Amino acid sequence: MDLFEYQGKQFLAGYGIAVPSGEAVTTVDAAVAAADGLGYPVVVKAQVLVGGRGKAGGIKLASDAAQCRAHASRILGMDIKGHTVATVWVERATDIAEEYYASFTLDRSAKMHLGLLSARGGVDIETVAADEPEALVRLHIDPVDGLSESATRAWVARAGLNPAAVEGTVEILGKLYRAYCEGDADLVEINPLVLSTAGAVRALDAKVTLDANSMFRHPGYERYDATQVRDEREAAAHERGLQYVGLDGSVGIVANGAGLAMSTVDIVSQVGGAPANFLDIGGGADATVMAGALEVINDDPAVRSIFINIFGGITKGEEVANGIVEALGRVVIEAPIVIRLDGTNAEAGRAILAPHLGERLVVEPTMLDAARRAVALAGAGSS
Ligand code: GDP
Ligand code: MN
Repeated sequence: MDLFEYQGKQFLAGYGIAVPSGEAVTTVDAAVAAADGLGYPVVVKAQVLVGGRGKAGGIKLASDAAQCRAHASRILGMDIKGHTVATVWVERATDIAEEYYASFTLDRSAKMHLGLLSARGGVDIETVAADEPEALVRLHIDPVDGLSESATRAWVARAGLNPAAVEGTVEILGKLYRAYCEGDADLVEINPLVLSTAGAVRALDAKVTLDANSMFRHPGYERYDATQVRDEREAAAHERGLQYVGLDGSVGIVANGAGLAMSTVDIVSQVGGAPANFLDIGGGADATVMAGALEVINDDPAVRSIFINIFGGITKGEEVANGIVEALGRVVIEAPIVIRLDGTNAEAGRAILAPHLGERLVVEPTMLDAARRAVALAGAGSS
């Protein structure tokens, strides 16, 4: 779950991190009213879930109401890398002395958290990593031990920040690590973390990704979830309790189990096809779940064939077959369907499917055969 900058700042402020005060608004008049209340100069900032807003013209300083109006008019509705700006965050401007970079994320291969700190902030951090890797100072943190103040001090010393920024940065990094762990975030990033001319250290930008699976622990995250811009197909699947990820190909995929669904996506690609989605219907495969899955796929106009890949385990082959037959009775499917049914009682399942087979519904003995057939049908359908 990716947060907009202003939401990320509210999240960080909840852990005591200093952020400038501001207001999120959706109209030009409201932007000017917010700026009048905050006091000039202000910064008008486009709220979109992509980086590089500054370079794209989505971040502008305004020293009076007229400038604020002009910037807000231009930025609201602006397109930044395919994202339309619906909200601007108007914030009290900061006089910047220096710009730093700070983040925490998980380093899966090291099985540890990874902190990154740099005295070269403000710019695209990938550029720093490429041109000046030594300027990006890393710190691996064992999640069991946590981050001590002495380790933080040593880390900050290695990054070579302005001495005036050291105390404030040590304090913010401690809070940022807490926000990252206790808030169940996958990423917290502050770029720039600034030293102001007045000598204060604060977060001028915030990029926060929360683990949506932790919502049960954080009821307040509902408010972030409501603003998530989801693929329409994903929203429909989500409503039916299905694990679905939209892709841009033409072979619709239904599988039981996340591992099998991923293998199915892979094998379709491997034989030259393009998967339209990842869809895991989970352990059970009753008619309701199967019908829901087929509805979601059927509503995707790009789909030219459907590959149902089921491995019967606890759910037996005949239950799966009955589920498919019943689902086909409920939903009128546009695209031809290829089924691979294996595992527990697969024979019995295929016997149930047999009377329904034809040009639009075929069964293949292996996953590879089924993938080839589905890809061929997708190609034939589009010609
Ligand atoms: P991004 O381009 O999407 O990462 O947006 P940021 O929020 O990081 O803003 C980009 C740049 O705008 C920052 O690196 C700053 O140089 C500048 N900026 C943002 N807020 C302020 C501010 O309050 N005062 C000044 N002087 N510059 C700002
Ligand atoms: Mn930034």
